[in-house]
Amino acid sequence: DLSIQLNVNTEDELGELAKSIEDLAEKLDFMKRERNEFLSSVAHELRTPLTFIKGYADIANRSTTSLEDKTQYLRIIREESRHLTQLMEDLMNLAQLEENGFKVEKHQVLIQELINEVVSKVSGVFSEKRINFLISGEGNFYANIDFMRIEQVLVNLLMNAYKYSADESDIKLAFIPEKENFKIVISDKGEGIPEQDLPYIFERFYRVDKSRTRTTGGVGLGLAIVQDIVKKHNGKIIVESIQNQGTTFIIELPYS
Ligand code: ADP
Repeated sequence: DLSIQLNVNTEDELGELAKSIEDLAEKLDFMKRERNEFLSSVAHELRTPLTFIKGYADIANRSTTSLEDKTQYLRIIREESRHLTQLMEDLMNLAQLEENGFKVEKHQVLIQELINEVVSKVSGVFSEKRINFLISGEGNFYANIDFMRIEQVLVNLLMNAYKYSADESDIKLAFIPEKENFKIVISDKGEGIPEQDLPYIFERFYRVDKSRTRTTGGVGLGLAIVQDIVKKHNGKIIVESIQNQGTTFIIELPYS
């Protein structure tokens, strides 16, 4: 245990020093607990798909299992492997982002070009559900940002909007230029997020409905990554949502 008790209660420099050492010990203790929680979440997330994979591989391997069932089990095994790959990718991303001294590589970016790139990336997927994709906001605005990282943020939010929307639903992306900052608003008319879950959705591994998101493939790291990237750009991200009506994410970033 890291708890330290220093019996110096004076008002002078020594007292101050004792106080800061105590604060530091408390902080280290908190970090230790956080790390342990994180590790047990990761272990849990790994165990679930692995249990499915092992279980179905065993049944598929039995000579008594019909070919039809085998095909079905193999499909589950493939699906769970995909889930594990996604988890690994998200974890690597998170580790990279949280590494000390990680820097976003900022360059002058034409915001319109970034939006075009994002739109072309998701349009193909959107057409599978015949999503009505509405894009608004134009102009020659430049911002000093990491193109790839902000692209990742927007694609992530759009793919979430897609995942939690019904067929033929509307999804909007709006660029709103302001004086020193600009906003990018992504909104959907999907299932929304219950009010009591809203404060937690940016936390690592947080999912509103675990059974629902298992089938849609998320592991609950996407928004944690999104928030990290936005923070590294000195920006803000806000969410508004009404259950069964839709969700809106607003990203605000400085031009420079
Ligand atoms: P996941 O990979 O599970 O989607 P995220 O970190 O991206 O994880 O999101 C966390 C949770 O927030 C999701 O599991 C989902 O419940 C909720 N969520 C995020 N975006 C939306 C949205 N556009 N509509 C409804 N729910 C959402």
